[in-house]
Amino acid sequence: MTASARLLIVGPQGSGKGTQGVRVAEAYGIPVVSTGDIFRANIKGGTDLGRQVTEIMDRGDLVPDELTGEIVRDRLSQDDAADGFLLDGYPRNAAQVGHLDEFLAARGEALDAVIFLDVPRAESIARISVRAQEQGRSDDTEEAIAKRLDIYENETAPILAVYGERGIVDTIDGVGSLDEIFTRITAALSARGLVATV
Ligand code: ADP
Repeated sequence: MTASARLLIVGPQGSGKGTQGVRVAEAYGIPVVSTGDIFRANIKGGTDLGRQVTEIMDRGDLVPDELTGEIVRDRLSQDDAADGFLLDGYPRNAAQVGHLDEFLAARGEALDAVIFLDVPRAESIARISVRAQEQGRSDDTEEAIAKRLDIYENETAPILAVYGERGIVDTIDGVGSLDEIFTRITAALSARGLVATV
């Protein structure tokens, strides 16, 4: 059976969306398209794109919409994303929602579901501080974390209302064990007729 699930996972920094995104994508046999991971891989690889985004990311700012949109369109145009994908980290503001809508509509596609991992701010801040100590990500400084959380609240959280109007948002309680949260997500997706294939 071929999977056809076009998914987006949204949640504050520290919500565990990266971890859950990978598990969900695996279960549905679709690739994860994580803009943060793409940018970090380019920084590590010393590419032109990497050089363009290093400072921006370290400050906790958003990479310009046009550049980010181009990266996502390229990635979604690859063969493995033809029948489905899980977006993590894109779209992150209203303009990006518009760009993605246009791109998908031109292919006769649309998102099937938006997984919103709901985690209280205090819990999310506590988790990022642990991650900062464990992984030493260069944008996990106090200033950059505060900036990213502000951007999340002011620009990213509002996109949930836009998708909510389309009736495609599944709000998932993001507090619990990894397995519990994963089960909540797949239950919500199954209820939409999106059944895991793997
Ligand atoms: P987090 O959710 O913890 O902030 P991400 O890996 O999703 O981590 O993103 C890290 C950084 O990558 C962001 O702070 C931003 O600089 C850049 N980035 C990722 N996705 C986008 C996007 N959709 N638009 C603009 N910048 C982005």
